[in-house]
Amino acid sequence: MALTFLYMHNVVILGSGCAGNTAAIYAARASLKPLVLMGREPGGQLSITSEVENFPGFPEGVMGPQLVENMKLQAERFGAEFRHGTVVEADLSKRPFRLNVDGDWIETATLVVATGASARWLGIPGEQKLIGKGVSSCATCDGFFYRGLKIMVVGGGDSALEEANFLTRFSNVMLVHRREEFRASKIMIDRAKANPKIEFVLNTVVEEVLANETGVVASARLRNIVTGEIKDQEVDGFFVAIGHIPNTKPFVGQLTLDEDGYIVSQGGARTNITGVFHAGDVQDRTYRQAITASGAGCMAAIEVERFLEAEGH
Ligand code: NAP
Repeated sequence: MALTFLYMHNVVILGSGCAGNTAAIYAARASLKPLVLMGREPGGQLSITSEVENFPGFPEGVMGPQLVENMKLQAERFGAEFRHGTVVEADLSKRPFRLNVDGDWIETATLVVATGASARWLGIPGEQKLIGKGVSSCATCDGFFYRGLKIMVVGGGDSALEEANFLTRFSNVMLVHRREEFRASKIMIDRAKANPKIEFVLNTVVEEVLANETGVVASARLRNIVTGEIKDQEVDGFFVAIGHIPNTKPFVGQLTLDEDGYIVSQGGARTNITGVFHAGDVQDRTYRQAITASGAGCMAAIEVERFLEAEGH
């Protein structure tokens, strides 16, 4: 069936991580000519990881930035258009949906929100410039590289305790938390406390991440907030697990979000607004993997295709 283009865009995909790029591949192959807006973190979280060893199809592993770039090239091959741009405001009250992209309004018949969730960082000196050189926000992605080395995890929620537990597969772990009590659930606390490979360093904040002469993480400057004592602790893998922030700001008051700002799914890839679909970490706070985000992108694009077809496009 020939497609008619009633609006400027059939589908706009927000985000160019695994979710957005996979949605783009599927939508492009369905001749929908998707427009992908790449946002503030083009390539998403994979673009800041190093080697990805758990994405099926790459027995030797693949570099994260390369994997996500390959997805983009694959989508472009079928006619997807990628543009730099961030949605600063959205009007989803009627169709076509209207998006303010850095000051310019565009219209679209359907929307896939694949804006992801950005890791919350400590904001201390050394942290940002050492991402990928010892600093990480993803134990599943990067833990393997620190087998037998010194690992530190920062945070006191479920993520931190889960990551600390996971990382003990590779080495001993020092868990640094700013308080005496944990925010994490009791079961996670019990599990972590029962793990002899985890050392708890409480009432302690990290003031700086320090590199050695080759530019990789060598130590973390810790300050005990009770005693005031400052200590440089040797570390190779520095994992920050203090939560994620879903990128849903332009949709507040329009899309149904949970108390932390994640999109609440209405089943499949559907949101509460007909014609707006979700994909990836912006909705998924459980799995947060490249492969699950890709799967969600695929689902969203298939739903877009069926939705437009049902409308007679
Ligand atoms: P979270 O529950 O918000 O915990 C964040 C932790 O990081 C808190 O302990 C907090 O300290 C600490 N923190 C925040 N900002 C900090 C800073 N600037 N400096 C030092 N520490 C800082 O986040 P999460 O652990 O990612 O969990 C998010 C949600 O996912 C939760 O609902 C959690 O239950 C869920 N989750 C569940 C599982 C599971 O059940 N398997 C696994 C992971 C996540 P304070 O406590 O002092 O505020």
